[in-house]
Amino acid sequence: MNMLNIVLFGPPGAGKGTQAEKLINHYSLVHISTGDLLRSEIANATDLGKKAKEYIDKGLLVPDEVVIGMIESKLNSGTNVNGYIFDGFPRTIKQAEELDKLLDKRKEKIDLVISLEVEKEELIKRLLNRGKISGRSDDQNLETIENRINVYNKETAPLIEYYKEQGKYRGINGIGLIDEIFNNICKVIDEYLKERG
Ligand code: AMP
Repeated sequence: MNMLNIVLFGPPGAGKGTQAEKLINHYSLVHISTGDLLRSEIANATDLGKKAKEYIDKGLLVPDEVVIGMIESKLNSGTNVNGYIFDGFPRTIKQAEELDKLLDKRKEKIDLVISLEVEKEELIKRLLNRGKISGRSDDQNLETIENRINVYNKETAPLIEYYKEQGKYRGINGIGLIDEIFNNICKVIDEYLKERG
């Protein structure tokens, strides 16, 4: 059977993590969140975690080699997988190119890039709210949040063009009820699967 590999794309606070959780259950996929992987390295106080925390707390991207290495070992450890939801990765053109290469070696590819579209004011509101509940330090500081959104616009948004050129990009309104957004994502995926046959 063909794998189904999806990039869940969008700025911080767009709802990628929330939708990824629902999608992995619905389509029996494996969730790969580089943010979660990095936070677990931090929680375990590994060298990688200590290094990564310095970038994360400033709202900067962790260097490409670090996250690409993490993705490679995740892909290597997956057996009997239906496919992956990539959440928060890739975030730079370099990462996207390396991901394409890693999948290509496995005779796999990214099928769809589903982008959750939410404007800046709403993102800031959501992230500050999440900071109160989750305790994530990078969600509690307005300057860090604004940096993350600026970094998204500068380093990550160019991926929209990258994936549009490949015909994989699908934009979805990220504002509304969680289940409503989820249904809209499922429609896009189901339509793709039907066409693929
Ligand atoms: P997230 O949980 O996806 O919002 O990620 C939290 C933080 O982890 C980001 O602000 C970055 O500092 C770092 N991070 C997560 N994923 C990546 C990635 N693909 N490339 C670089 N840094 C990342």
